[in-house]
Amino acid sequence: MADKTGSIDVTTNVLSQSEVSPFAIFDSLRDDNRLPLKLLPLFLHEFTHHWCFDSQVGFSFFLLREHARGILGTEQEPASIAKELARPVLKYNLAMRILMPLIEGIALFAEFDADLGETGSISVPLDYCTGLFQTQSSQTDLSPRKWSNLIRSARFSPTGRGRKKIVLSAPLGLTRRSDYLRGYLSFRAIHRRAASRNHTFENDTDFFLTYARHVFFNDAVLANLLLDQTMRLETWIDAFLSRLTERISWLSSGQDREITSQFDQLLSSKRYDAFKDFHLLNLQSTDITRWNNEIDMRKNDPTNGFASQSGTRDWRRNFLVLREIRSVIRLAQTSATIQITVDNEVLADGRRLGPHNTEKNFGNDQHSGRVTLYFVPEIKTLAFIADVKGWPVRIGLPKAFLDHPSGRMISAAITLFHAMEASGIYGKSDIVDMQEMASWFIGHLELEASTNRRASTFWNEVAFWDVDAAQKEPLQGKMEFAGIGQLLDCDDLLLDALCAISVCSATNRPLSDIDAHFRSLGLEKRSIIESLRRNQDQNGFQFIDNAVTADTHPEMRLKCFV
Ligand SMILES: [Zn+2]
Repeated sequence: MADKTGSIDVTTNVLSQSEVSPFAIFDSLRDDNRLPLKLLPLFLHEFTHHWCFDSQVGFSFFLLREHARGILGTEQEPASIAKELARPVLKYNLAMRILMPLIEGIALFAEFDADLGETGSISVPLDYCTGLFQTQSSQTDLSPRKWSNLIRSARFSPTGRGRKKIVLSAPLGLTRRSDYLRGYLSFRAIHRRAASRNHTFENDTDFFLTYARHVFFNDAVLANLLLDQTMRLETWIDAFLSRLTERISWLSSGQDREITSQFDQLLSSKRYDAFKDFHLLNLQSTDITRWNNEIDMRKNDPTNGFASQSGTRDWRRNFLVLREIRSVIRLAQTSATIQITVDNEVLADGRRLGPHNTEKNFGNDQHSGRVTLYFVPEIKTLAFIADVKGWPVRIGLPKAFLDHPSGRMISAAITLFHAMEASGIYGKSDIVDMQEMASWFIGHLELEASTNRRASTFWNEVAFWDVDAAQKEPLQGKMEFAGIGQLLDCDDLLLDALCAISVCSATNRPLSDIDAHFRSLGLEKRSIIESLRRNQDQNGFQFIDNAVTADTHPEMRLKCFV
């Protein structure tokens, strides 16, 4: 998920971003008691990726890659290694090609659209962000309106609008960047259809985000398919796509209100159990039983149950570390000069980060090292790791957490993961680059290319669901190089205005809110809306609600579909 400013390693769930350093976060929390608002879009996006991969489907991807890494660690002939690797590597890559638009689409929906509404539940990324982006005093009084105002400011900021303009101007032609626009438009189309049938999805877009995340990423059938050992690859691709079609149609049918309300109640009261309440996601008990068995068999060794068992002892230990590291969020990392004072305080680039809790004596010289800031979801706490001479020093994890078995496990995993990084085990040659490895299997390159084309056609169908059949092909042609930007004849001001309208629409605010912005662009509201409507009549792709006019709706709460 390499975005412009951030990315997530799909299997280890480790977030990297170049936007903000751990020190800037530390300073901001110390001085303002919250993070700068301009970072909210970035973290909403990346936290959503993290949440989606911390799931049944995400865990299956992890097992596939770990299986491949285990095979690489065996002492077999290169030819037999390549033969064994083909299946997990290709399946991983093909499934990624198919799911990538969805993976980006859901994260972009969280970034641009999701807002709290009528239900009692809150999505996981938003929950983490409310803790990080609101001051302590306002956290105790989180009203949906307050949060809407905050999120609206972040999305309306030049950074927020700039990020949206990049996505809307992404190409729709066959490049990796097209996953963003194709995925975003697809996810919006699914939401639009679901919301027209179930007004909870209309009134609570954050709830829709949560439900959709469970429907797709906790789908035991997709997760089981990823681990399947029996199907021929061609048959397997058909099965994967057809399951995805079923999930899209289940979600966009809007469901019985009873189902979504039960799901909301269980989530709100923190009683939702993926292994018990699967009927709310239209799953069968046999799917869940199969998934449970797969996980039981492989939770300590991903090669169990596969054709050949492999992997060295070190690799097995590293697997357990990576399995645990998937649950924590790496917020930021930087190199720094580190010094440990005589009273065990850790100073990094002169900042006092806090006392460490290791027995080791570092002396009080200055060392060049690295500082990483983690967010530990289980206790919603930030913790620093300072790497001094290849030795990870923990700062900020409360004693009560460290005394608890799961806290001990997570904390040990963080420490060991840093040791793995320091020794080059993780992040360098030993880790499997699945993309690169696919090129070993020359005979399968055409299969990857054809799956890529199929996936694009598949998602284009979803993205342009409501477009007239005759207009679909010419429309896609007109979006090949610069997406919606191209459709608007690369009129940057009009694109900016469309992004501003979409911010109002996402938080159900009237257009009068952004009159001043329109004036600053030198544009007049009425003419913007006329231009957009002319464009949509001509191209068949709807940006905004046709029914609303300034005369019929003086407040102009305009629905925006992109
Ligand atoms: Zn992304």
